[in-house]
Amino acid sequence: MSLPYDDRDGWIWLDGEFVPWREAKVHVLTHALHYASSVFEGARMYNGNIFALEEHCARLRRSAEILDFEVPYSKDQLMAACNETAAKNGLEDCYLRPVAWRGPEAMGVAAQDTKIHTAVAAWAWPSYFAPEQRMKGIRLTRAKYARPAPFTAPTESKAAGLYMICTVSKHLAEKAGYADALMLDWRGYVAEATGANIFFVRDGAIHTPTPDCFLNGITRQTVIKLAKRKGVEVIERHIQPEELSTFNQCFLTGTAAELTPVSEIAEHVFKPGNLTFDLMEEYSQLCRGELALA
Ligand code: PMP
Repeated sequence: MSLPYDDRDGWIWLDGEFVPWREAKVHVLTHALHYASSVFEGARMYNGNIFALEEHCARLRRSAEILDFEVPYSKDQLMAACNETAAKNGLEDCYLRPVAWRGPEAMGVAAQDTKIHTAVAAWAWPSYFAPEQRMKGIRLTRAKYARPAPFTAPTESKAAGLYMICTVSKHLAEKAGYADALMLDWRGYVAEATGANIFFVRDGAIHTPTPDCFLNGITRQTVIKLAKRKGVEVIERHIQPEELSTFNQCFLTGTAAELTPVSEIAEHVFKPGNLTFDLMEEYSQLCRGELALA
């Protein structure tokens, strides 16, 4: 068990100031706690440089706009806050969690009178999936819940509320001995894992679901560019679950998950292969500034 997240040493950037880690608190009548009026980001710093920081800060602001609130800091101010938070905590390789939410100034569904709060925390978080599992590929089961349709939820926002179905699905997967779960979308197409996008390989080409009802991850977009740069064909399309048996390789992408090979989805077996390992390596080099994308 890791240390609880409220009982650590260090500093958290909260509404423009650094507060001691254990004092970065909210009230129980915070609107976000009751109505999920919260959006967040996950970014990673490698060797003192936060990968795709601008994209993450822009997405935080956009996620909030979709939930009808404005983050009271500009993209540049958020970027500075992220860099300062890592520096203040003496971190050069870490995960960063910017978050913005509605405060306790109003209760009820209408929330126009609430103040918007913003925080950034940073901590060392080496691998989202256990390192020994990661190289041979993680095992996925089917998720209990499907991704909601874009007309039923703000699916383009990295909104806290959209994660309740992910948490329940991931718990069920872990209880059954799996690392994660494959979520379908409301139409029954393959969508993503509970906190990462999904890719498949067949005949040297990459197939990945069209992100029309789930997050078009920053890692996903980066990996597509890396694959195209290698001359690999990338086909974004609707993928039927019946097609899973026709793919040879499968991997997940996400800021926390980075590139993680998948060895099983329920009864379907994949063998992590060269294309997956090459992209893993190139993604790692790119994040560390050892490779440049045109
Ligand atoms: N889908 C979900 C549900 C996620 O939580 C994440 C992680 N933010 C992703 C996809 C991947 O997004 P990114 O590559 O931008 O981290």
